[in-house]
Amino acid sequence: MNNFDFIIIGAGSAGCVLADKLSACGNYQVCLLEAGPKDKHWSIHIPLGVIELMKSKVLNWQFNSAAEVTQNNRKIFNPRGRTLGGSSSINAMLYIRGQKQDYDHWAELGNDGWSFNEVLPYFKNTQHQERGESDLHGVNGPLNVANSYSKPPIHDDFILSAQQAGFPLNDDFNGLEQEGIGYYQVTQINGQRCSAAKAFLTPNLHRSNLTVITDAQVQNILIDDKSKDKVATGVCYKVKGHRYNIFATKEVLLSAGTFNSPQLLMLSGVGPKAELTKHDIPLKHELTGVGQNLQDHPDTVVVTHHKRSDLLAIRPKAAWWLFKQGLKYFPLFSDKRTGILTSAVAESGGFIKSKPNLSRPDLQLHFIPASFDDHGRDLKMLLNYGVSIHTCLLRPKSRGSITLYGKKVSLHPKIMLNMLAHEDDRKDMIQAVKIARSILAQPPLNDNNGNEIFPGNNIQSDEEILDFLKNKANTIYHPVGTCKMGSDDLAVVDNELKVHGIKSLRVIDASIMPTLISGNTNAPTIMIAAKIADSILASYQQG
Ligand SMILES: Cc1cc2nc3c(=O)[nH]c(=O)nc-3n(C[C@H](O)[C@H](O)[C@H](O)COP(=O)(O)OP(=O)(O)OC[C@H]3O[C@@H](n4cnc5c(N)ncnc54)[C@H](O)[C@@H]3O)c2cc1C
Repeated sequence: MNNFDFIIIGAGSAGCVLADKLSACGNYQVCLLEAGPKDKHWSIHIPLGVIELMKSKVLNWQFNSAAEVTQNNRKIFNPRGRTLGGSSSINAMLYIRGQKQDYDHWAELGNDGWSFNEVLPYFKNTQHQERGESDLHGVNGPLNVANSYSKPPIHDDFILSAQQAGFPLNDDFNGLEQEGIGYYQVTQINGQRCSAAKAFLTPNLHRSNLTVITDAQVQNILIDDKSKDKVATGVCYKVKGHRYNIFATKEVLLSAGTFNSPQLLMLSGVGPKAELTKHDIPLKHELTGVGQNLQDHPDTVVVTHHKRSDLLAIRPKAAWWLFKQGLKYFPLFSDKRTGILTSAVAESGGFIKSKPNLSRPDLQLHFIPASFDDHGRDLKMLLNYGVSIHTCLLRPKSRGSITLYGKKVSLHPKIMLNMLAHEDDRKDMIQAVKIARSILAQPPLNDNNGNEIFPGNNIQSDEEILDFLKNKANTIYHPVGTCKMGSDDLAVVDNELKVHGIKSLRVIDASIMPTLISGNTNAPTIMIAAKIADSILASYQQG
């Protein structure tokens, strides 16, 4: 089959929602193309597999940034999912929406329809909140949102210590108030990951009008620029070395994520003229904002030795311990999964203010009951019994970019995060380190703490902490903004996510966020796709 009504590029958080909603009525032929394989591997479905997924070369794109001038020329690791479910199949499963003000700000920028009250119905109707229905939570949606199944008591110690340090308790970060410390809710169902694929795609694979092709990397979008209106007509993709062209009678929907969506636009001749000329790509439509405005949450981690025994560590008798945990996860006489294998690693955390006079939180905490370094990839660190407090800045002012290394899609996009470029970000991140230390200094955590591993007791002055941040700060994996929604010079899509100047082409994924939301980005991306899918369906019903 060569012709479809809709072709969706990328089966990630957004692409799975689009595939479900556009194929549900049965009136449209929908094709979903995914560069990665099917989501069969155990590490996707067993939550603790998240540690394994960080290292996977098959299910994770394993991007690294270019040498970051603002961080001593380090090449910073940027994991991204490469399978059905995309990054929702490798993420930490925390369910967060952000702050009301984030979306009201999008609307204030001129993006009609995107205020919090207008997006809230899409958060609600995509979720099934296991705690039940309320003004702010929905039930019976495909995405299962649960209390964490794994709650090692060390998390209670963190929550108590944070309260001792002056931060309030919060039992629902998606409730009326985001501020406070507590347990995260997770996108899991009965102790298994509930990725966007599991929620929106797998149950609908039987639909005869939905074609899903995996291991199919889109090479470029076909754009007809000969007629008066430039129009996207289809895509060229490659499977096992063979190229295929398929055509969209209605629209091409680009959902390849914040790094790959701008890359594909540029490879298709849409983007900044200078960048395309540099790589000898014929310009079909100039859009200077493609790949610009990259934003991500800069993250720092304070790690200390800790004496409690209920930590994630490579311990003596590890095989026996794992065997017992396996029995909890695959119990003989029940189907309820429990134990450490259900752990998304960062069960507790919170949203706090770096300065008391702020009107809303600007920092997010993720507490990890392990001594973590290098994104959990340094397994030697797990020989220590330790705890880690990650602190990230929610609305950074630094901006990075995505450009190209060359004209082939097989080359990774050139990522320049440019974190800590803005002086305010540097100051706030120094404060973030101090706050994490202030929590670790309170009981009950400090009763069991040993020496600090990172930054280390010798790092005390602001200059020393800044130097530590340049050497160690990473992202916490929430890149957005590279195909931003708006009507200014850098905008790539309008408020219906249609690409400016090209018909029948939309970008629908995290890249369209004009500004980063204050929290983890999976649920917001799902909301974006659900909202635009409804709008697409309505437009064709009317037309
Ligand atoms: C390690 C990690 C931990 C995270 N933890 C959390 C968390 O706990 N909570 C949370 O809310 N968010 C978390 N996030 C962020 C969240 O998962 C993402 O913001 C969200 O999944 C982005 O969705 P997306 O649709 O924009 O892109 P993705 O889900 O990344 O989807 C893009 C898809 O497009 C495919 N693709 C790319 N190029 C091509 C091509 N040329 N042809 C065909 N297919 C292509 C990719 O393989 C991928 O499947 C985390 C992310 C990571 C990586």
